[in-house]
Amino acid sequence: QVAVVGSANIDLVVPVDHHPVPGETVLGGTLRRSPGGKGANQAVAAARAGQADTSFVAALGRDEHADILLRSLDDAGVRTDVVRRTDSPTGTALITVSADGENAIVVAPGANADLGAPEGEARDRVAQADVVLAQLEIPLDAVLGAARARRSGALLVLNAAPPAELTAEVWDAVDVLVVNEHEARALAGSEHDDARAAADDLTARVGTVVLTLGAAGCVVLQHDADPVTVAAPTVSAVDTTGAGDTFCGVLAAALAQGAGTVPAARRAVAAGALAVTRHGAQEAVPDAAAVTRLVRE
Ligand code: ADP
Repeated sequence: QVAVVGSANIDLVVPVDHHPVPGETVLGGTLRRSPGGKGANQAVAAARAGQADTSFVAALGRDEHADILLRSLDDAGVRTDVVRRTDSPTGTALITVSADGENAIVVAPGANADLGAPEGEARDRVAQADVVLAQLEIPLDAVLGAARARRSGALLVLNAAPPAELTAEVWDAVDVLVVNEHEARALAGSEHDDARAAADDLTARVGTVVLTLGAAGCVVLQHDADPVTVAAPTVSAVDTTGAGDTFCGVLAAALAQGAGTVPAARRAVAAGALAVTRHGAQEAVPDAAAVTRLVRE
């Protein structure tokens, strides 16, 4: 079993010719509303592409946006019965996408900020999990609470996105840290330009560091072991939104099913590569059969 402890957002996306500057109003194209947030995306990936029994531990509002998110999670087979509802609005990301493909994003965390340490049934669900997967779009107390609620032997996989200062207790609790190049540099401190060197430094604090490298796949770094690079298949990328989330969800699902870190990373790389061939975040998550075919090729 996998318990994903994390954020859920509705993405409100408007295409624009150019991003507005302060004081300016621009007329954009057609509004698209889609379910997102790192936690929800990763839960969908663990369930659909990873075929793991996946529970989502999160906070949503009592609004229409919550309904859209719950529908997407339910469709993917994610267990949503321990999702909390609060009086805050559901997390929302306001996104403008310019003609040159660049995004400008404002996130209103809303209900995500209400998530604390898991309690009651949510806590029980975390305690049943073989893998607890968290990100940093929620209060650190929620991550720490989930880490403490784990049963002994369960793995804590932390996707340190967006990068934030971690406490010593969180560092000590993490078994597998997943970071992209930007996050590796931010977490290791400013002395590194090189993400590989930064990730290598992080192995002093965490047993296993998985550094994702976009089109180059990923590298698995472990203290006192040779790094293992997993190349990504060549694909034609149309939208990289959610690639990292697909990677994390599938990695956690494979680890929960007993795979070693490197075989799990192979499935995660294949799933991430398939995700970039489709538009959107949760909509782009491939099914497990497609991932298996690509891993065998
Ligand atoms: P993030 O989306 O968090 O910035 P990356 O860009 O490192 O993370 O991508 C995560 C994973 O998605 C990669 O490890 C890889 O499996 C897959 N991926 C991303 N971009 C590409 C690409 N252009 N071609 C193939 N796979 C990709």
